[in-house]
Amino acid sequence: MSNKCFSLALHGGAGAKRGHDYTVEIAHMRRLVEAARVRLADGASALDVAVETVVGLEASGLYIAGKGASPNAEGEYELDASLMDGPSLRAGAVAALQGFKSPILAARAVMEQTPHVMLAGQGAIDFARDQGLERVENPETWFTRAGAFEDNHPPERLPTGTVGCVVRDAEGRLAAATSTAGVFGKRPGRVGDSPIIGAGAWADGHAAVSCTGQGEYFIRTAVAAQIAHRVRFGRENLEDAARAAIQGVADLGGHGGLVAVDRDGNVAMPFASSGLKRAALLPNGAIVSEAF
Ligand code: ASP
Repeated sequence: MSNKCFSLALHGGAGAKRGHDYTVEIAHMRRLVEAARVRLADGASALDVAVETVVGLEASGLYIAGKGASPNAEGEYELDASLMDGPSLRAGAVAALQGFKSPILAARAVMEQTPHVMLAGQGAIDFARDQGLERVENPETWFTRAGAFEDNHPPERLPTGTVGCVVRDAEGRLAAATSTAGVFGKRPGRVGDSPIIGAGAWADGHAAVSCTGQGEYFIRTAVAAQIAHRVRFGRENLEDAARAAIQGVADLGGHGGLVAVDRDGNVAMPFASSGLKRAALLPNGAIVSEAF
């Protein structure tokens, strides 16, 4: 891939169910890829495009993140997000954030405005407020899934629907961003993989990865960093590395999927689940958008 080429992949969660019509989500994801392509052609950075794309996914209300978030077992909305910039290895994350429309913007502010990588709970709320980030005034009318939570799911059956984006820009820089409400009916205070750097998101000079699925399994196998390390130290190609990492999740009894891009612009989007809402701009310029 020439250095002036770029590619990206995004996802709307591994919770896609057979028999469900995802026409709206597939069209929406394609529009986001087309918008990202324009930005990348203009020279935008991988980090900016990853964040902008996740903001678009969050704001749509179509996925279990941002406006589409589902509440926890007590009816509260606790949201998680993270991002990582490959060239600098800078990272930011928020966990169990309540009351703000865009957790990924809060994660970016943590990265850029603090010496920390992650803020959680009340500390994250106070910080987001101090940053002037847009608040959710009334959760009952803002969130599209208000009242839709399902109680008493055993963890292995909790439905999922995180969003994320990975980008290789025209300068060869990589970035990853992930945002979620977590799994349906989760316990208050439960934090999944999405805000955990190395589990739900990772970007370095070799690969960028954003994950979705049952977060406990992704944390236990450090999926996102594992893929980059397989590429870097094991000299595996991206597709093999991504498939091996997802297989590790499946071997433990978990399910999920991911999107990944490497420094040559190759894209991988494997899943071990019923489906994965995803879209990509491939290195050859083709756009794909699908759920199964
Ligand atoms: N991975 C997310 C979590 O465990 C859920 C999802 O991907 O939908 O919080």
